[in-house]
Amino acid sequence: MSSSALIIDDSSTELSKIRSILEPSNLFDKILMAHDGIEGFKALVNEPVDLIICDLIMPNMDGIKFLELVGTQDGLKDIPIIMLTSRDEKKFKIKGLEHGASDYLTKPFDNEELVARVKVQLKLKHQQDDLRQSNKILTELTTRDPLTQFHNRRSMVEILERELQRCDRKGSQLSIAMFDIDHFKLVNDEFGHQAGDTVLVAIAELTRSRLRGYDLVARYGGEEFVLILPDTPHEGAILVAERLRARIEKLRFEGELSNLGVSISLGVASFPFEDIDSVESLIKAADSALYVAKREGRNRVVSAQRT
Ligand code: GH3
Ligand code: MG
Ligand code: MG
Repeated sequence: MSSSALIIDDSSTELSKIRSILEPSNLFDKILMAHDGIEGFKALVNEPVDLIICDLIMPNMDGIKFLELVGTQDGLKDIPIIMLTSRDEKKFKIKGLEHGASDYLTKPFDNEELVARVKVQLKLKHQQDDLRQSNKILTELTTRDPLTQFHNRRSMVEILERELQRCDRKGSQLSIAMFDIDHFKLVNDEFGHQAGDTVLVAIAELTRSRLRGYDLVARYGGEEFVLILPDTPHEGAILVAERLRARIEKLRFEGELSNLGVSISLGVASFPFEDIDSVESLIKAADSALYVAKREGRNRVVSAQRT
């Protein structure tokens, strides 16, 4: 695993010395150097590292201020920081540790001890990175549908709960468009389940490509999806739904599916509106509108709020 380090010290002699201690350890592919907290912070913003060694007393921005600043930054706050202090006073060590330092060494320090402490912190950092990566994969697995990578139903409900609270707070509107592939069973029956999956993925891809910045899609069921459109009033959502419907109607496939045409039916509902006051009632309204779209002939958009 490749690693990098940043050393911050106002003394150039000290910087070179620490660098020359670390280099033979082969722990780092890259060692950056900075003369004070500000320079160090700028270097980090450009290129986050795996470990920082930082002097305590420096001009401009000292070690404690540097710790405070780094501690507020999401991408940086987990980098281990070893403080160097020439003051062997307990209160400085405590202050450093309280402000987020992982470890400290008192100058003049022993070279081997520095390398040993660096190794410990680097190992912890890599373990933490691995854990974070595993958690990310686990979250993906529990919140995404494996075929389309869209949010699954459970994740969709969670997102909607959050988004509706935001609407309440901000007085904004949110719309959803629930859609279902028309006569999809016939595709499976005629061409097989695998071909059915190809069609499903193609529709998912097309839907994904049409999304705007904050829009989300969930796979609600087998061939049923929900578009979540934050900050979108009802009329806007109807337009989005209609464009998607028209685009999917034009979708063409290759090989044995070259003569196949597909279409979707959509039901659009918005929050807040009359008795649409919860995630449950919003989904129910969109589902009922979708049912009407099916009943009225499919390949169409129906508003849950038409009068
Ligand atoms: P309608 O227009 O009324 O929606 O008709 P339909 O045939 O699409 O609806 P129905 O509910 O009768 O059938 C849905 C079909 O979708 C049956 C099911 O096997 C298929 N399906 C659901 N999920 C998948 C999937 O992941 N892959 C494939 N290939 N088919 C799926
Ligand atoms: Mg269907
Ligand atoms: Mg269905």
